[in-house]
Amino acid sequence: MTTLRVGGPAARLVSATSRDEVVAAAREAWGNVEEVLLLGGGSNLVIADEGFDGTVIRIATRGIERLADANDPHPVRLRVEAGEPWDEVVAFAVEQGLGGIEALSGIPGTTGAAPIQNIGAYGEQLSETLVAIDFLDYETGQVERLEASELDLGYRTSSLKLGRQGVVLAIELGFAQADGLSAPVSYDQLASTLGVSVGTRVGLADARAAVLALRASKGMVLDPADPDSVSAGSFFTNPIVSESFARGLPTEAPRWPLDPDEAPKILPLGAEIPAPRGSSSGPASPVVSAFPGRARASRASTRWRSSTAVGRPPPTSPNWPASFRCACCPSSGWSCSPSPCSSACNSER
Ligand SMILES: Cc1cc2nc3c(=O)[nH]c(=O)nc-3n(C[C@H](O)[C@H](O)[C@H](O)COP(=O)(O)OP(=O)(O)OC[C@H]3O[C@@H](n4cnc5c(N)ncnc54)[C@H](O)[C@@H]3O)c2cc1C
Repeated sequence: MTTLRVGGPAARLVSATSRDEVVAAAREAWGNVEEVLLLGGGSNLVIADEGFDGTVIRIATRGIERLADANDPHPVRLRVEAGEPWDEVVAFAVEQGLGGIEALSGIPGTTGAAPIQNIGAYGEQLSETLVAIDFLDYETGQVERLEASELDLGYRTSSLKLGRQGVVLAIELGFAQADGLSAPVSYDQLASTLGVSVGTRVGLADARAAVLALRASKGMVLDPADPDSVSAGSFFTNPIVSESFARGLPTEAPRWPLDPDEAPKILPLGAEIPAPRGSSSGPASPVVSAFPGRARASRASTRWRSSTAVGRPPPTSPNWPASFRCACCPSSGWSCSPSPCSSACNSER
């Protein structure tokens, strides 16, 4: 039931295939004061060996509907039920010529889970397209429509991840582009795979194929034949650093702007990354992925599990450029751990 393929059984499992079933199952379990675990595709979950002593509600609702609203600022709007596999939504949008989520191709899991951490990849994130969600609120027991602006969506975060409890029943996506072309490619690696410069719009099918190929080359597409895809995705996020820190990095180190209005930040490795205000698509101080190969190293995959669990670099780290390593203990790779000098060291470079 999870992509990590570990963990014990649930005391009770309800598979809900209609919205009414989801609502009834959640209200019943909440009313009985049981432990409740909402399960989508299980691609961002680790279940303990002793299992789950409560009710697991598996969200298995399906459906993609094209909405018509003359007053809608988006040329096309889709409503998608929570249990719809996310990648099938992307495939549908690409087929329909709708640009804006093609870079999110190949992300495992369900549509209902997508807003929880505001899924993102290759320069796009859900918040750029998400309009609203239908939400069964734990506090009130009622179904509400919440606008995307009410969800505090940020870089891999949302109010749903940070404590607001309930069930995402469906989401609405608004597409600004319906001309068969992608959103402007904003991620260097994707642009070079496509053979175009950053900012170019390409055919949606080409963009999707390039993203899937890139992801597959990193074990980031679920594949029963690839033991490296037995994972729960990335569990570190990119460090947020100051502009001066970013200026000291090699030009090839990928970086993304954060928020124009906030003071630049240095975030020591391993610290909790604060949520940027609103969508993190706005320009300014950089979010830098400073460590080539680190995304791979930070995944709980079969190949890298031992190095990631202790936060050590992958075996290739001694070959990284010197500027990626700590100035005070260069032999240790990107982190000074367990040395106590780690934050000072990181912030000096
Ligand atoms: C190989 C691999 C690659 C990945 N790549 C990426 C990536 O590029 N970008 C990215 O952002 N993520 C990535 N992920 C992480 C994962 O795909 C996403 O977090 C995805 O949204 C999880 O969906 P799910 O349905 O599997 O959620 P689950 O793992 O089932 O659940 C995750 C959390 O959401 C809650 N939840 C699930 N459904 C609902 C609902 N309907 N309402 C309320 N809460 C709910 C669960 O209770 C749980 O807390 C990757 C994972 C893997 C395994």
